[in-house]
Amino acid sequence: MLRAAPRLYLVHHQGVGYDNIDITACRRAGVPVALTPEGTTIGVAEHTLLLILAIYKHLREVDPAVRAGTWPVWEYRSRSFELAGKTLGLIGFGRIGREVAKRARAFDAAAIYYDPFPAPPEIEHALSARRAPLDELLAQADIVSLHLPLSSQTHHILGERELRLMRPHAVLINTARGPLVDEAALAAALASKRIAAAGLDVLEREPPDPDNPLFKLDSVLLTPHIAAGTADAFRTKMRAIAANLHRVLKGEPPHNVVPESVT
Ligand code: NAD
Repeated sequence: MLRAAPRLYLVHHQGVGYDNIDITACRRAGVPVALTPEGTTIGVAEHTLLLILAIYKHLREVDPAVRAGTWPVWEYRSRSFELAGKTLGLIGFGRIGREVAKRARAFDAAAIYYDPFPAPPEIEHALSARRAPLDELLAQADIVSLHLPLSSQTHHILGERELRLMRPHAVLINTARGPLVDEAALAAALASKRIAAAGLDVLEREPPDPDNPLFKLDSVLLTPHIAAGTADAFRTKMRAIAANLHRVLKGEPPHNVVPESVT
């Protein structure tokens, strides 16, 4: 595609996950790749909280139960939880991870994070978030939530070994990218109740195969890669992209370019 477009100024992705863009080829062609964090970050952070709360209160099960004419007012109590007092383990502490930490604070939950790049101390302080090694995070968190990019280094960052480190009551949330998690290992961990539940906006294969083993598990809550997909976000994104295009057409450098350090 790049060879066929010799006059190309810019590749502008409407989201922030650039795992489907050949960054090296763009760089070789001298074409910057710009991302659109505007309209992406808040939606994903809100969706993360939505999945946690929906899992903690069994929404997937109770809504159909009420519609089917039952009224399970007691049945779920011993298996329902509050977010207050829990510890969120955030893997990846960039734009989205930090917005999740901010929202977790409002729910009186604590946050620890794993990221190769420490956040500035004032951000850690403002968000009451402490950096920890990955294994320690997995062993301590009540909720593990992924907010890092997919790359050859992060593919299956959560595999069987890592899932075994998680606590039996722990919940895994993935609103980042499906292949960050070894899905077969996740299905096995959930089926054998080594972890409690998973809320997944993304899967290794999208759309998934109808016989995906996760579909058979009551402890899994699924959404179809819609974490950032709102009318609010769409408007914000299109405005941000138009502003960036204006910038480039005036000869100015675009904002939110994938950094040179990314390989
Ligand atoms: P970001 O670049 O602001 O933050 C990513 C963070 O991950 C950075 O701080 C980086 O240092 C960290 N990181 C990199 N490698 C890591 C590793 N091996 N272990 C731990 N942390 C690591 O990106 P963002 O805007 O917060 O977005 C995060 C990801 O969310 C995106 O890459 C994208 O795949 C995903 N996303 C999903 C949706 C959706 O609709 N479900 C929407 C937007 C973004």
